[in-house]
Amino acid sequence: MRAVRRGTLLACAFFGAAVAACAQPAPSAPAAGRSVGGSSPLVAQLHAVAADTGVPAELLAAVAWSETRLRGDAQAPAGDEAAARVGLLGIRASDLSRAAIAAGVSDDDARHDPEASMRAAAALLRTPGAATAADYDAALRAYGGPGLADQVARALARGLDARDASGASVVVPARPMPARPAETVAFVPASAQNYDTGSRGVGDIDHIVIHDTEGNFDGAVSWFQDPAAQVSAHYVVRSSDGHVVQMVHDKDVAWHDKCFNTHTIGVEHEGFMAHPDVWYTEAMYTSSATLVAALADTYGIAKEHGTILGHGEAPDCSDHTDPGPGWDWAHYIDLVKTGGAPQLAGDTAEVTGPGALVEGEVGDVMIQLANTGTAAWDVDATRLGTALPQDHDSVLAGADVAWPAPSRPTSVAAHTAPGETGAFAFQIQAPHVTHGTVIDEAFQLIEDDGTWFGPTMHVVVFVTPVRDAPQDPQAMSGCAAGAGSTNGGCAILVAAGVLGPALRRRRRRR
Ligand SMILES: [Zn+2]
Repeated sequence: MRAVRRGTLLACAFFGAAVAACAQPAPSAPAAGRSVGGSSPLVAQLHAVAADTGVPAELLAAVAWSETRLRGDAQAPAGDEAAARVGLLGIRASDLSRAAIAAGVSDDDARHDPEASMRAAAALLRTPGAATAADYDAALRAYGGPGLADQVARALARGLDARDASGASVVVPARPMPARPAETVAFVPASAQNYDTGSRGVGDIDHIVIHDTEGNFDGAVSWFQDPAAQVSAHYVVRSSDGHVVQMVHDKDVAWHDKCFNTHTIGVEHEGFMAHPDVWYTEAMYTSSATLVAALADTYGIAKEHGTILGHGEAPDCSDHTDPGPGWDWAHYIDLVKTGGAPQLAGDTAEVTGPGALVEGEVGDVMIQLANTGTAAWDVDATRLGTALPQDHDSVLAGADVAWPAPSRPTSVAAHTAPGETGAFAFQIQAPHVTHGTVIDEAFQLIEDDGTWFGPTMHVVVFVTPVRDAPQDPQAMSGCAAGAGSTNGGCAILVAAGVLGPALRRRRRRR
């Protein structure tokens, strides 16, 4: 795949073949009063439950994303029945029956049926009368702890562009909110019943063991604080943003690996080994590698796979297999060797879009770009942003297209490892014009932490006013490009003028 240079695009921009993307289901936009859009069947269910219960659809979507990444496989750390989370929205098992009764659904449906899970969760989150943001914050803390309330608030502030298990989108527009205090690495002590006090130092610690929680971050932290757990880890790393808490001092012996604890440090990672693509995020790899590199330097541990190893590989006496085959060891050890500094880069962009649209008309755009850096791109973290100037509101972000924000068309469609090609599919809506007008909108990639990278890519479309359009009503639809139509789509092009260095070093997250 090669970048098409700017100069070649006009030849094709206005006269082209029908757009193949017409076969894709059109994402629904968040229309007035409707705050969640996207192509997932979950979207209609979220709106139905919101209409019946008064709990905002975007709040339910953000809870489902925070708890299960829209997968509905939340569960508890082994042995922690009280903290088990069930269903699409990760309801605590101990709250399930109460929620199901209040919602008028069966326990079994609340566990396995997405809409029933939404209804049960809404029953727990509903507050009498007109709820304020503070009411919902309190309800979320009761539902899933302060960490959930914080994650939901952050997700709503930055907007969501997530994918369900089938790859269909759930989009929540960004909503600027009062800044929440920045998080720092915190020490949250595990229960003293869950580890042995020690005096370990250099020479006593020779391995670092990598785990995953098979549950969510808050569940793991609260479990290690529970004296009944009889387990702990030195550190726990959060999936969405790489946030780290320390729970046991390095000098002490955490109980994370049965009979391989004495000379090791245990690092837990939020997630499920069955779904590495959505839980083992680049943010978590980066943050964990930064931590582990510092530990390796402190204790003189070789930065290689062997001295740094998975629980499932450890010469212990447990039958655990975490973090499973989906943990990218080659990438992780590369990151440990560089102190957690991956590089974000993209190249050879290919842009496909409608060459021409009538004002108000919606068209499909696909941008494909090779990941030429050393960092993976994650769904809902690696997004397109408007460029030239960066972050401006696009005239192509009409009311009928589902963008997380007017400056953010979409995020990468799937987890994209270094060397793979990432796809960014979105819709544009032609603005009002008084005469035929060429609109040239520039985009670049932006990571969740605010780092811009890769080439600048252009989507160019010729927009005509409604009065100049053909009378054939078919021609007004996004898929109308037929022979003789003046608004035929153009299956190709538009291209990438590479501006500035394509390779940018990722900023540290902490
Ligand atoms: Zn483990």
